[in-house]
Amino acid sequence: MGNFGLIINGDRVVTASSFDVINPATEELVAKCPLAEAAHLDQAIDAARSAFSLWSQVSNEERKAAVHKIGDLLEKHGGELAGMITEEQGKPLGGFAGLGAQYEIGGAAAWCHATAELELPVKIAQDDENHRIELHRKPLGVVGSITPWNWPLLIAIWHVMPAIRSGNTVVIKPSPYTPLSTLRFVELANQVLPAGVLNIVTGQDDLGPLMTGHAGIDKIVFTGSTVTGKKIMQSAAGNLKRLTLELGGNDAGIVLPDVDVEAVAPGIFASSFINSGQTCAALKRLYVHEDIYDDMCAALKNIADNATVGNGLDEGIDFGPVQNRPQLSIVEAMAKDAKEKGGRFLTGGISQEGPGYFFPLTLVADVKEGCRLVDEEPFGPILPIIKYSDLDEVISRANDNPSGLGGSIWSSDIEQANQLANRLECGTVWINSHAGIQPNVPFGGVKQSGFGVEFSTEGLEEYTSIQSVFIPKK
Ligand code: NAD
Repeated sequence: MGNFGLIINGDRVVTASSFDVINPATEELVAKCPLAEAAHLDQAIDAARSAFSLWSQVSNEERKAAVHKIGDLLEKHGGELAGMITEEQGKPLGGFAGLGAQYEIGGAAAWCHATAELELPVKIAQDDENHRIELHRKPLGVVGSITPWNWPLLIAIWHVMPAIRSGNTVVIKPSPYTPLSTLRFVELANQVLPAGVLNIVTGQDDLGPLMTGHAGIDKIVFTGSTVTGKKIMQSAAGNLKRLTLELGGNDAGIVLPDVDVEAVAPGIFASSFINSGQTCAALKRLYVHEDIYDDMCAALKNIADNATVGNGLDEGIDFGPVQNRPQLSIVEAMAKDAKEKGGRFLTGGISQEGPGYFFPLTLVADVKEGCRLVDEEPFGPILPIIKYSDLDEVISRANDNPSGLGGSIWSSDIEQANQLANRLECGTVWINSHAGIQPNVPFGGVKQSGFGVEFSTEGLEEYTSIQSVFIPKK
C-alpha cells in the first residue's frame, strides 16, 4: 500500500518515525503509518485555529456544497477505500448480510450527503413591539475527533461532517490500529476544503491525552471505550471543552415467547455478529423466553454453522477476524470465564490457529448475570443466550447494567413490545430489529455509554453554541 503522511494545513507532512499497521487476517504489514510528535499536533491545532476565522464565515451554501463534494469523492474512490478497510480492519468486502467494508463506504458517502442537507436556521424566541430576539447557532471553534478501530471511516465521517458543516475546523486522530482509510479520506477531503479546515495526526494512544488536554481545542468528539471516555472527561476540564462521548454498549435483546423463531433468528444473528461482534450497538446479551429457548438456540446454531470466517479479501467470506491481539485476548478470557461458570458452548469457543486473530462464531447457552460474558462488553464474535421466564424480571435484568446504548424487544405483538421497549434504559430501542441507525435519527447512549447524540439536527447542534441576540424595536 502507498506512502502516507499527516495532513496539516493542507500539506502532506512526512514524520521522522512511523509505526506498523498490521492486517488482522494475516498479521502481515499493511503499511507504515506516520508517527506524529507533540509539535505536529500543535501545528495542526494552529492551522485549524487560523482556518476557523475563515471557515466560520463561509456561507451556509458553500459549506453544504463542500460536504456533498466530499461524499462524491468517497463514492468515486469507494473501491480503493473498501480494500483499505478490509486490509487494516479485517471486515470482509461484502460480508454477512452485506454489512462489510463496501457497506461502510456506502454509509460514509450517504452520511455526507445527509449531513450536507441539515440546516440550523435562526430561531425567534420573541418578536413583539419591544424586541425581536433571535437565537443563532455559532460554531465552537476547533474540534478534536478521536476514533476507534471498528468502523474507522464511518465513525470519522460521523465526527467530521457535522463539525465542518456547522463551521468548525477539525483535527482528527484515528485509532493506531486502523489509521489508513482515515488518512486517505482526509487527503481526499483536502481537495475540496480550504487549507487547515481538516487536519490529521496519527500516532499511538499517547497522542490522545495531548489532544484532550490541549487548550487550543474547544470540543472533543470521542467514540471508543468507556474507560477511555472517563479519562477524556477528566482531561478535558482544563478549558471546559464541550464533549460528545459515544462509549461502549452491552445491549440486551429480549425475545418474547410469541415470535416465529425461524423468522427472527437471522435478524438476531446479523445484529449480534455484525463486524464479528465489534460494533458498539450490536446485540450483546440475548434474553430468550424459556418456552422457545431450545428452538432459538438451535436456529442460531444452524446459522453459525453455515457462516464462513476468514480473510475478508477472499470470495464468499461472511465474517473477518477480531481486529487486534489485545481484543482477541479479552474475548478468549470471557469465553474461558463462561466455560468455568457452566456455559454450554453451542458453537466455537476456542481461537483458531494463526496467522490472524481469528475467533470462531461462538454461541454460549445457559449463562446468566455474574458471568463476564453477560456483565461486560465482549466486543467480539461471541453471544450469550440467557433464559428467562418472567417479563418484569427480564426487564430489570436487562436494565441492571452500567451500559445504556441500545436495546430491543422481539415479539409479534407490537403494542406489548412497545410498552416493554419504553421500560428499557438505553438511548435507542428497536422492535423486531437491532443496531439499525439512520442519519435522520439521533443516536447516543445513556448511563455509562456516554452522553450527547450524533446524527440529525440534534447531532449537528452539538457542534454549536446558542448566541441570543436582542434587537430593540425602538
Ligand atoms: P479505545 O477507547 O481503546 O480507543 C479509542 C480511541 O481513543 C483510539 O483512537 C485511541 O488511540 C484513543 N485513546 C486511547 N487512550 C486515550 C486517552 N487516554 N485519551 C484520549 N484518547 C485515547 O477504544 P477502541 O478499543 O478503539 O474501540 C472499542 C470501544 O469503542 C468499544 O467499547 C465500543 O463499544 C466503543 N464504540 C462505541 C461506539 C458508540 O457509538 N457508542 C461506536 C464504536 C465503538
